[in-house]
Amino acid sequence: MKLSHRTTLIFLAVSGILLAGSFLFSRSSRHLKNGQPIFDDLAGRLDSHPASMTTPGPQAFDGQRALEDIVTQISFGPRIPGSRSHARVVSWIQSELKMAGWSTQLQSTRYAGHPIENITAFRSSQNPQVILAAHYDSRIVADQDTNPAHHTQAVPGANDGASGVAVLLELSRTLPEDIPPLWLVFLDAEDNGQIEDWDWILGSRAYAAELQVSPQAIIIIDMIGDADLNIYKEYNSDPLLTESIWEQAAELGYMDVFIPEYKYRIVDDHIPFIEAGFPAIDIIDFDYPYWHTLEDTPDKVSAESLEIVGNTLWHWLTQPNR
Ligand SMILES: [Zn+2]
Repeated sequence: MKLSHRTTLIFLAVSGILLAGSFLFSRSSRHLKNGQPIFDDLAGRLDSHPASMTTPGPQAFDGQRALEDIVTQISFGPRIPGSRSHARVVSWIQSELKMAGWSTQLQSTRYAGHPIENITAFRSSQNPQVILAAHYDSRIVADQDTNPAHHTQAVPGANDGASGVAVLLELSRTLPEDIPPLWLVFLDAEDNGQIEDWDWILGSRAYAAELQVSPQAIIIIDMIGDADLNIYKEYNSDPLLTESIWEQAAELGYMDVFIPEYKYRIVDDHIPFIEAGFPAIDIIDFDYPYWHTLEDTPDKVSAESLEIVGNTLWHWLTQPNR
């Protein structure tokens, strides 16, 4: 993720409803729109099978459970592209989604010379009204670390990477079924800008390039686990969608976290969708002193912060008249 101001570009290094045995569903969900797959040249596959005999019902978003998801991701090691940890987190995310009753589709492609694996989760064959997404990869180098000896090591990414994934997974477990069609998307290769032969937001660029549906809202969450959480409005984001989310947060009493002021202009995974004409926003707390350092570890994030963001999204997604 890259930060920029208006004039000076400053790189701060930036089951379906799983009905057991539902053969019909697994057939119909393979092609989501007029017989078209989610992606034009999909090289991935659709996994749609019952993972649990008990379909989870609506329940409250649990920040503590989301925090445990961060700890699990950190235990895999840095999720840098091409690593075993990266492959492991991809299969773990898919497995968690299936247990929560979602189907998944993997977009395996290449972008700008790099392999990309984006995961889409859905519960119905209807086109999504909303896409909620986060990047799951972590940065290859901790080049913002105060210790230069750490600059060649990989970022743990507890907040920058794992926090967004954790909120998406906890939402997958707790959102009721009777909400407008929603996709949860786990994006690859967001975080390697300003590294030779790399760039920022490669996963979302690959995803937007092949997206075959037209959601009314695309919401990116990134770096939302900071124990000292301050989320400002972001200048590149769709203004109406921003207002809607901030209003929801205020209704829940979270105005001290969702601060009603603009602060940063950020290049993050919302950009390719905005460029493609979709209303998209980036929900991000960029005031994080451990950004792209070896200190981006689970002790810097909190269950409370994850729950504030998760609750806000949960209520926004379940509110019929938003
Ligand atoms: Zn980052």
